[in-house]
Amino acid sequence: MKKEVPVSKNDTVEVVFEDLTHDGAGVAKVEGYPLFVPNALPGERGMVKVVKVNKGYGFGRLMELYEKSPDRVEPPCYIYRVCGGCQLQHLSYEGQLRAKEKQVREVLARIGKLEDVKVHPVLGMKEPWVYRNKSSVPVGQKDGKLIAGFFQKRSHDIIDMEKCIIQHEENDRTIQVVKDICQKYGVQPYDEVKHKGVLRHIVVRHGKQTGEVMVVLVTRTADLPHKNKIVEEITSKVDHIKSIIQNVNSKRTNAIMGDETKVLWGNEVIYDYIGSIRFAISARSFYQVNPDQTCVLYEKALEYADLSGNETVIDAYCGIGTISLFLAQKAKKVYGVEIVPEAIEDARKNAELNGMDNVEFEVGSAEEVIPNWYKQGITADVLVVDPPRKGCDEALLETILKMKPKKVVYVSCNPATLARDLRILEDGGYKTLEVQPVDMFPQTTHVECVAKLHLV
Ligand code: SAH
Repeated sequence: MKKEVPVSKNDTVEVVFEDLTHDGAGVAKVEGYPLFVPNALPGERGMVKVVKVNKGYGFGRLMELYEKSPDRVEPPCYIYRVCGGCQLQHLSYEGQLRAKEKQVREVLARIGKLEDVKVHPVLGMKEPWVYRNKSSVPVGQKDGKLIAGFFQKRSHDIIDMEKCIIQHEENDRTIQVVKDICQKYGVQPYDEVKHKGVLRHIVVRHGKQTGEVMVVLVTRTADLPHKNKIVEEITSKVDHIKSIIQNVNSKRTNAIMGDETKVLWGNEVIYDYIGSIRFAISARSFYQVNPDQTCVLYEKALEYADLSGNETVIDAYCGIGTISLFLAQKAKKVYGVEIVPEAIEDARKNAELNGMDNVEFEVGSAEEVIPNWYKQGITADVLVVDPPRKGCDEALLETILKMKPKKVVYVSCNPATLARDLRILEDGGYKTLEVQPVDMFPQTTHVECVAKLHLV
């Protein structure tokens, strides 16, 4: 009788890797049975120890590499092996871009049945390092000392970190200074298991064009002991500091921030520019983390919207109104909707800041607000969506199919939900003309895409 699974746990097998999964593991087949192996690249041959066996697939650990891929490079980061933040530093940047393009193409075909859609090569960065403008580090304790860094791969053990090479250098410096100050004043780190202690996360934001810095101290308790001293030291030691915020998150949760935000010092927001538009960014608002590539992404969205100046545009999931204001430069009227109230406050401020009076924003979920607009007679010539990873809500997709905007521009951070939603829109009468992936997150497996759809 044929053995269902050709390998057992702890077996060692020699394999050739054929593919890369969407989370960066190598895929090898043993008699057709797929094994997923971290740190292996397509084309490589090596010895693998089987560590887990499921019915349809298993996991292995790479023990020895016999043949290396020409795309393999030495990961430059000193904590790459333990940190879960990056997954592709062992693959050359050109290799990463090729892998991402292939992934988008395959996911669109497999999930969206969009075999023939035009997928362009990924728009990458010239210098794919030190790009992040935001750093969020969990705080913990080791040998009585306050530490802050990253969660070790697949765990919640915190490893202290001095430097993250995809992070803007100023953020690394700021984190170190804030960490030292909190240690000096004996601030108790949060203990996730006991749900005790005070400081949960340090979050730092940096405006790439303005240089402005925001520090957010996320605490479990409303009280932050030695608050005034801590604030005074941060203001004297962090260059370009413009805002110090305390966010209170008293829940047992993996979400970083809670609902209560207090300004401890300075402004409630920092400012930054994307292109020529100035943005106010508050602690809890979403703002793209790679400012250079954001400009590339938004320019592409604007190109796909192809505005002449007479159009009404809806920007769903608008955050602080970034895409809305880009579009408003060329549209008659833009409506933006977003679920986080502070982000909408920022969006309104941003419209004012840039002297744009052809935009209106509303707080709420896109799937409730847009159907309401439609009932009130507000329709769009162009509709832009930029949802979180889970994609668009079905109720929103249904409304799009009723409203029938001539063009839909879909900005997506998850190719799988993009493919699912494109299929629904295609079945409802839209055609996907082209898809442009943009590398917003070099060294990681994340892929961002903009898709252009027309009503046919
Ligand atoms: N377009 C913006 C934000 C994109 S991120 C930019 O490029 O900066 C996705 C945004 O959707 C986040 O701001 C999130 O708060 C918001 N969001 C999440 N679920 C939502 C929903 N159901 N309705 C409206 N907005 C939502």
